[in-house]
Amino acid sequence: MEAGAVSFPRRKTRQITVGDVPVGGGAPITVQSMTITKTADVEGTLQQIYALAAAGCDIVRCTCNEPEASEGLARIVPRSPIPIIADIHHQYRRALEALEAGVDGLRLNPGNIRKPEHIKAVAAEARDRNVPIRIGVNGGSLHPDLYRKYGDRVTPEAMVESAMQEIAYFDEVDFDLIKISVKASNVPLMIDAYRRLADATDHPLHLGVTEAGPPPAGIVKATAGIATLLAEGIGDTIRYSLTSDPVDEVKMGRVLLESMGLRERKNVDLIACPSCGRAEIDVYKVAQDAQDAFEDREIPLQVAVMGCVVNGPGEARDADIGIAAGNKRGHLFIKGQNVAVVPEDEMVGTLVEWAELINTEGMDAALARAVKTKDEARRAAEEDRRRNLDERGDDANASEQVVELLRTKR
Ligand code: SF4
Repeated sequence: MEAGAVSFPRRKTRQITVGDVPVGGGAPITVQSMTITKTADVEGTLQQIYALAAAGCDIVRCTCNEPEASEGLARIVPRSPIPIIADIHHQYRRALEALEAGVDGLRLNPGNIRKPEHIKAVAAEARDRNVPIRIGVNGGSLHPDLYRKYGDRVTPEAMVESAMQEIAYFDEVDFDLIKISVKASNVPLMIDAYRRLADATDHPLHLGVTEAGPPPAGIVKATAGIATLLAEGIGDTIRYSLTSDPVDEVKMGRVLLESMGLRERKNVDLIACPSCGRAEIDVYKVAQDAQDAFEDREIPLQVAVMGCVVNGPGEARDADIGIAAGNKRGHLFIKGQNVAVVPEDEMVGTLVEWAELINTEGMDAALARAVKTKDEARRAAEEDRRRNLDERGDDANASEQVVELLRTKR
């Protein structure tokens, strides 16, 4: 865990396994997404599954809405690198077919499959095959009886009651490999429903804000709902439901979990200064270039891009590695110590090169390499620091003038 990081105690839940991926019971929180291809399109769906797995997806859901989709699953499941959950719509027969096709999990919406004998038939088959089911309650498709019971409104109580009713049907056939979601597109409603559900059951929970919409607002909405609950210890697996490439859903899920210290870091955590009157480069552009350069590399380091050498290395001293601009040069630093200096147009390439070195050979190897360059790097950084201060003064952001103004207005 990083210095200064706090941890979020997790709610105790039972554990199930989806394929070979444990969910709940203290297992790492998993990231899910859903393919947007027709499941009958086997090659297209597998391509998307591979892209999702490469981005860090742990479990993927495919729609199973027609007989051709069940057949597609029979071909996809043996070739998928990650467990597959079949998303069942209104036809319980599709659920039975998906189980026959070998899926690792099912998702049933209690608002869509309503006949108790159908629900129990699916649960009995899943029990015999040792396959878990997610009870996926959705605010937008609540069971009509519950909708009426709660005054023709979707309420958190109604959503939880829907999940508990489904559990009762499962109990009747002695099936308990369950995880549950109570998603809604309304964030406060979703948070309230999950809190109540967490009080009512110890089954693992799948978190999501349904139909969050396109980025960036969709990302903010999903994060508001999911992160709030995770900080309370609620949630065992998550999905960002974005109107976007599903790979983005996975990336956002990973970023959230990694940034909350709930999953081991897999990719670069890029930090960048906001830029100010002292900046000597276009920080936004260099940060974007660095983001692009690190995009497909699995380097679990914190990397900083800073606009000036006056404050950059100090402000980002906790980063594993960073680069700060000064006098058309890039000043590379490791844990706040200047280690090399390069031309400005080589800043991003140098960052990547040294980050790769730390990642493959370790911090000691990088520091050993720096032995030859660090004296020169320190001298150059000091030179460019002074130059910046000479040119821009101590108060490059004119903060003191503003402070004076504030005082005169009191
Ligand atoms: S002082 Fe330097 S590092 Fe800090 S915000 Fe300004 S440009 Fe960026």
